[in-house]
Amino acid sequence: MGGTGARARFVGIATVIIGFGLIIAVFESMAPAMAAVIGMVLLSLGMFLAMPRESERRNAAAAPAQESSTMPVATRKVLECIDEPLLVLDFAGRVVFANSASHAIFSGDSERKHISAVLRTPEVLEAVERVLNGGPAENVSFGSLVPVQRYYRAYVARNTMEAGGSFILVQIRDLTALRRAEELRADFVANASHELRTPLAAVSGFIDTLRGHAKDDAEARERFLEIMSIEAGRMGRLIDDLLSLTRIELNEHNPPIGAVDVVAVVRDAAAVLGPLAEPDGITIRIAAHESLRVVGDSDELTQVFQNLIHNAIKYGRARGEVRVNFGAAELQGGRNPRQIFVSVVDQGEGIPREAIPRLTERFYRVDVKRSRERGGTGLGLAIVKHILNRHQGRLAIESAPGEGSTFTVFLPAAP
Ligand code: ADP
Repeated sequence: MGGTGARARFVGIATVIIGFGLIIAVFESMAPAMAAVIGMVLLSLGMFLAMPRESERRNAAAAPAQESSTMPVATRKVLECIDEPLLVLDFAGRVVFANSASHAIFSGDSERKHISAVLRTPEVLEAVERVLNGGPAENVSFGSLVPVQRYYRAYVARNTMEAGGSFILVQIRDLTALRRAEELRADFVANASHELRTPLAAVSGFIDTLRGHAKDDAEARERFLEIMSIEAGRMGRLIDDLLSLTRIELNEHNPPIGAVDVVAVVRDAAAVLGPLAEPDGITIRIAAHESLRVVGDSDELTQVFQNLIHNAIKYGRARGEVRVNFGAAELQGGRNPRQIFVSVVDQGEGIPREAIPRLTERFYRVDVKRSRERGGTGLGLAIVKHILNRHQGRLAIESAPGEGSTFTVFLPAAP
């Protein structure tokens, strides 16, 4: 567009000069009338061509808009493919390009506005100012509190395009998920240390007592050694559960390939737990069912059903029943429409409604004291959840206070 206008003006000016030449020639030529007419025509045509076009006048009036079109279309297309928010600024600090990912955090119409009208974070604006003034590239962290706390990092750098011209790039990374994961990990380490510290403190305390005033008290020694053994057992279980959880998590992206008879797995798991149900007079009843083959890992599924049946014993009703039922179900849509389900039903005190969604969180317990008394680590259901994730399965929990609980595992049926 600009090249065509300049060419037309050049032709126009040349035409004006020729026109003038011909008019002067009127006075010396033998055909003055003819020369005068041609001269006048060329003069008018030249003046018309030399005049700026209407479109050029419009563009000149909207100079800022023209800046944005100075970014080559191909470059805009490439930058548009970047799925992180990205702004490109000219040297006046005006946004000449904002990719669509940026619309999630800035309003959709940030182009042509000054950066200070788009982003109100002083740290980033100051970094842009420094880079505009020739400073090196910078990384700036910032956050937003509304509507929920989010964490971002902006990378501000000067960039020179191949086609010429320099721009300031402001690339924004949303670090919220990363920060939350770090917080969760820090919480987890703090929780795990706390869980280990409690039994450790008890064992250390009893060692001191046995060395001190209970040194010669045989009865007290027996009692304390018994408690120390329970606490040492608790630490051992906790370490076992922590290791299981880590191992399962590491392997979670890797789905199992074997086929397992889930009815046999449940029978084996229940057989191991029989002695734990006896002291409370709890009967474990497993529904008679032909084999049901699911896609899965036998050891991991054994752990799932051991944890669920053990919980049903720990939190079930003394002299009551723990029942295990099986069935098959068709899921609407999804990758694995044929599902096998196994329900573990107890007659215990049940679970408050608001606690149900939190049960699979690590170290979450409805009643911490009760869980500890029953030898719980607070990790059993977290382990179940991760194993089921790996198996592309699902856990459904139904319970109401006073009405017992039903934990149902859904697993893809083997083809
Ligand atoms: P824990 O080692 O404490 O049993 P879990 O992760 O296995 O840890 O379970 C978490 C919490 O869920 C338990 O502390 C308990 O409060 C609750 N819970 C689990 N299973 C049952 C159940 N069958 N009936 C009642 N509450 C249960």
